[in-house]
Amino acid sequence: MANLRIRFDRISKSYGNLRVVDDLSLDIAEGEFVSLLGPSGSGKTTLLMMLAGFEQPSSGAILIDGQPINDLPAHRRDMGVVFQSYALFPHMTVAENVAFPLQMRGTGRAEIRERVARVLDMVQLQTLSDRRPAQLSGGQQQRVALARALVFEPRVVLMDEPLGALDKQLREQMQLDIRALHNRLGLTIVFVTHDQSEALTMSDRIAVFNRGRIAQIGSPRAIYDEPRSRFVAEFIGETN
Ligand code: ADP
Repeated sequence: MANLRIRFDRISKSYGNLRVVDDLSLDIAEGEFVSLLGPSGSGKTTLLMMLAGFEQPSSGAILIDGQPINDLPAHRRDMGVVFQSYALFPHMTVAENVAFPLQMRGTGRAEIRERVARVLDMVQLQTLSDRRPAQLSGGQQQRVALARALVFEPRVVLMDEPLGALDKQLREQMQLDIRALHNRLGLTIVFVTHDQSEALTMSDRIAVFNRGRIAQIGSPRAIYDEPRSRFVAEFIGETN
């Protein structure tokens, strides 16, 4: 497998006069768990949306393995996406929700059955495959969304506040589960959060965002022990 690397090269993004990402560069290595951490409105989601291909940068380039993402067809980008609002189809079962992206791509029935079983197993939902979303807890619904993002076995998973709607206990359990999946599958994960403790527990590296720029990037330990500015010290020191 080629060594996947994601590179944001001097990315800016403006909406009208509002510059929400400001000349930002960031490299993410294969298999890394990187959190984008910062206050609301600091540009984290916008950066993720550009990587997902849902938004275009105003300037700069995003490269995967050295190739501009705009030159890559969707399946070569090799990414799964999970949002806070799980957006499951209420009238479909768990298995049907997870199968949906495969059906859209015209995958054969036998392969769909096999992939859905495998991915439900990964997120420990085998026994709930015939239920509908309304019959599941918030944590279980979030697992379905995760399963759906993993069904193509992507190398990269983008997550935008995926645990934001869960209560504390469930959230902590899911943090461990996602981290375990990351380790087991060797996934590259880019994880948006405004929760300091979540970023500190889960990440290999944290990029602390402030007004569309990275104020500091480093290991959780380095960010926590050696904040390089008052902004980072105060933001990390805040409790939720
Ligand atoms: P974060 O994820 O850090 O909370 P966002 O990337 O969502 O920040 O937003 C950064 C800024 O960009 C905010 O001020 C937001 O209102 C603005 N913004 C995001 N998307 C749009 C859009 N489609 N049109 C106009 N402004 C937007």
